[in-house]
Amino acid sequence: MSLDGQMTAWAVSGRPGTADRVVPVTRPVPEPGPGEVLVRVRACGVCRTDLHLADHELAPKAAGVVPGHEGVGEVVALGASVTRFAVGDRVGVAWLRRTCGQCRWCRSGRENLCLRSAYTGWDADGCFAPYAVVPAAYAYRIPTDLPDTDAAPLLCAGIIGYRALVAADLPPGGRLGIYGFGASAHLTAQIAIAQGAEVHVLTRGRDARRLALELGARSAGRADDDPPVPLDSAILFAPAGDLVPVALAALDQAGTLAVAGIHLSDIPPLDYQRHLFRERRLRSVTANTRADGETLLRLAQTLRLRPHVTPYPFARTGDALEDLARGRVTGAAVVVVP
Ligand SMILES: [Zn+2]
Ligand SMILES: [Zn+2]
Repeated sequence: MSLDGQMTAWAVSGRPGTADRVVPVTRPVPEPGPGEVLVRVRACGVCRTDLHLADHELAPKAAGVVPGHEGVGEVVALGASVTRFAVGDRVGVAWLRRTCGQCRWCRSGRENLCLRSAYTGWDADGCFAPYAVVPAAYAYRIPTDLPDTDAAPLLCAGIIGYRALVAADLPPGGRLGIYGFGASAHLTAQIAIAQGAEVHVLTRGRDARRLALELGARSAGRADDDPPVPLDSAILFAPAGDLVPVALAALDQAGTLAVAGIHLSDIPPLDYQRHLFRERRLRSVTANTRADGETLLRLAQTLRLRPHVTPYPFARTGDALEDLARGRVTGAAVVVVP
């Protein structure tokens, strides 16, 4: 922060699909409103959703918004009536930013489906910035033994992957297929393997297949290969709708395919007998609840989850997004803020 309270942040430019999809902008350091805390950001993970936003695959809600919803940093100021955190606490800023707390979805423990929810980096500025504000009730306490750069990818990639794993309804010791192997998938695979699952990874990237085997996957093939065994469950992380029939056909009977992404290209026609009959199920995963986040952060400690991180200096935030767009990131890209 300079003396006049200005900072340089990375904002969506309105030039989707180009290497300049986000550009540096000068903004005032935000002030925490009632119930909010001001966070000095030290690291922020780069999520595929940031790309979907900057590339207008998700309809923009605020022009020139600052993306970044896997922020880790230190609380430096408190808004009115904040008691949950103190100045100096280390917190995580995640995708789910606000829910109404009153609708039937919120009241039944399904706040991820709240129709009046708001999201960091979509409805409000996120953490590709030296400072960000977050409602205290939606921030996470970060386990002390996790470095900032390891904690950052847990905040969306980790949480969504965990919710997708639960949604995929994997039986204990079951066979899980993972389609696409980016930040979220490589964390989910670690959880599933630590819990005793047999994991088969199907992805186009050669480096990603190598990482999958290093992390303990039983097999790693190309995205449209047949896995070596019928799958009890599968998770589709790649935003590719043409893999939906491929993954459904790889399921054993009664198997479940969970689609983890917020955006998916068109799904080709399904054949009822081949893809769905024998009680196969296809379901989506929409955002997460705060309970999912707390559970994932606990699991990360217990299971010693360690993301495979590619760090980028803050000045190269745009390059991190471009590398992700071009499939050049193995594991999770994390921007390190000075
Ligand atoms: Zn609600
Ligand atoms: Zn995300």
